Amino acid sequence: MKYNTKMYELGSKRSAIRELFEYGKKQARLVGEENVYDFSLGNPTVPAPEIVNNTIKKLMETKSSIELHGYTSAQGDAETREEIVCYLNRTYDTNFSADNLYMTMGAAASLSICFRALATSNEDEFIAIAPFFPEYRVFVEASNAKLVVVPPDTTNFQIKFEELEKRITPHTKGVIINSPNNPSGAVYSEETIKKLAKLLYEKQKEYGTDIFIISDEPYREIAYDGVEVPYVTKYYDNTLVCYSYSKSLSLPGERIGFVLVPDEATDSKDLYAAVCGAGRALGYVCAPSMFQKVVAKCIGNTGDINAYKINRDLLLEGLTKLGYHCYKPEGAFYLFVKALEPDEKAFCEKAKDENLLVVGASGFGCPGWVRISYCVDTEMIKRSLEAFKRLREKY
Ligand code: PLP
Repeated sequence: MKYNTKMYELGSKRSAIRELFEYGKKQARLVGEENVYDFSLGNPTVPAPEIVNNTIKKLMETKSSIELHGYTSAQGDAETREEIVCYLNRTYDTNFSADNLYMTMGAAASLSICFRALATSNEDEFIAIAPFFPEYRVFVEASNAKLVVVPPDTTNFQIKFEELEKRITPHTKGVIINSPNNPSGAVYSEETIKKLAKLLYEKQKEYGTDIFIISDEPYREIAYDGVEVPYVTKYYDNTLVCYSYSKSLSLPGERIGFVLVPDEATDSKDLYAAVCGAGRALGYVCAPSMFQKVVAKCIGNTGDINAYKINRDLLLEGLTKLGYHCYKPEGAFYLFVKALEPDEKAFCEKAKDENLLVVGASGFGCPGWVRISYCVDTEMIKRSLEAFKRLREKY
């Protein structure tokens, strides 16, 4: 039997991050769990806020089985969509309606839907700005388009606009942005968003095309020290928002999020229909019914973001004192650190010898750097500092 080669490759090769996570579990059996410092995954450790469980209990007591577990409309429960847009309008001073929203199974589904809805030929290009979430390549290529990468600005992890401009062509369908960013922890400033909008408006005019911003926002609420995370639709009309409750409400396994198609986007109604069509073609209709109702009742709540801030401060201070060069994260829950040698893979191997599991950033388009995921137990961070010290002493 012949399988689809591309799908076979995707399914048989584990991602580097998963590989490391599996290694960590094996190593824990050998040396003891408390002696392995696993910073590989971005699985939120902060519990879902109490309101989530209370809402589930209440829904179970008050709703019928069909209301709770039956199919909703393909694009999502009307009441849920209404609650979400009311919250967005209150919070960001926008003017969305329920018909701008399509409920999905998290940001991964939202992104896949957007690429599929926008791509028209195999010459189409989507631009990612390094460092970027490696799954973008999988999702873009699954829509038969190409991923084009803009090299990182390692001074502040904003956007190298001269490099971005060089890569925008008549084939450009969209630019993917992710702020707060996985893996750098950077938040794009209002100035960056304004510059991006200006450049894309100019390029749309020059080429007579539509160029979309696909704003991947699972970390929107995880921002520290009062930093603002601009709402992108207010700066650029052709914006599609891909949101997820995976990180803000600590619900990654429940698979719930949305795509937002604003009225200001070109041919908005048709684009929304294409989003519905992509959802249908990909089998992403009717996002999990019970969790649509749960998030509607938990809007505006988050897990304890201060717990991540405590971890950030502890790790940032500890590693900086030891002489590591770190980017101070303004959001998300990753610390981005320069490897102590040019080949970050060799550095990660030396870290592994100390049972420190950190992810090399070549896969994120940023060689020479590593990602340390600090959505972990604070006590593990404290214990790991001695191992980071030994690693530093190897150089
Ligand atoms: N985008 C980014 C930047 C992520 O870090 C993740 C998950 O870690 C996703 C998208 C996928 O999120 P979801 O669980 O909502 O599919």
